[in-house]
Amino acid sequence: MKPEKVTEFYRRLRDLEPAPKTELKYINAYTLLVAVVLSAQATDVGVNKATGPLFKLVDTPEKMLKLGEKGLKDYIKTIGLFNAKAANVMALSKILVEQHGSQVPATREELEALPGVGRKTANVVLNVAFGQHTIAVDTHIFRVGNRTGLAPGKNPLEVEQKLEKVTPAEFKQHAHHWLILHGRYVCKARSPECWRCPVIDLCPFEPKTPPPEEQKKLKARAKAKAKADAKTPRATSVPKKPKKKK
Ligand code: SF4
Repeated sequence: MKPEKVTEFYRRLRDLEPAPKTELKYINAYTLLVAVVLSAQATDVGVNKATGPLFKLVDTPEKMLKLGEKGLKDYIKTIGLFNAKAANVMALSKILVEQHGSQVPATREELEALPGVGRKTANVVLNVAFGQHTIAVDTHIFRVGNRTGLAPGKNPLEVEQKLEKVTPAEFKQHAHHWLILHGRYVCKARSPECWRCPVIDLCPFEPKTPPPEEQKKLKARAKAKAKADAKTPRATSVPKKPKKKK
């Protein structure tokens, strides 16, 4: 995508949501870190349901250690992979207390050294809690980057590095959230809602999804055709002549 188109792409997403926020509920950097660790392969809505009551009681690593792994599991058992996630949260809380003065570190290296924290989680925490211009590539951003031609790449790291390169400085702080929201609500995985997409004219993806009324008409037409085809008798095959015996 050409630089002027990239700028226009972000400008339109910004016009729709000038100050986007993460949909994960959190109280401070620690609860944000815990929420992001719990959100791997789970929805933000599902995580918020579990963490709402949990964070009322636990908002520091010390309180988490006091609650204990079994106690934590009782709060998060509705979230997928909760056993492994509970173990990671306990282990990272212990490290925060013992090595970081109970504070969440603000560097990628220190964050990625924590159990259950990968590059994506570190990027979210650095961006949301510390205002750094990181772009965490999740499944939505990966899809949008590739479909739109904004940052095509074979894996999340490639897409992230391309986004870093092409995203103008003025959009870097919120790029991550604009792209997630766009992927989650408009440029959906199965059927992108191109008919209401604010960047439709900038996006090379084809075929574009038509408006719902048109989709209905197309479906009805396809159904009628299938019905008509079913009624038309099939041509019978002509039997082959038997080979002459030599
Ligand atoms: S036009 Fe369609 S494919 Fe392209 S960004 Fe918009 S929703 Fe996604």
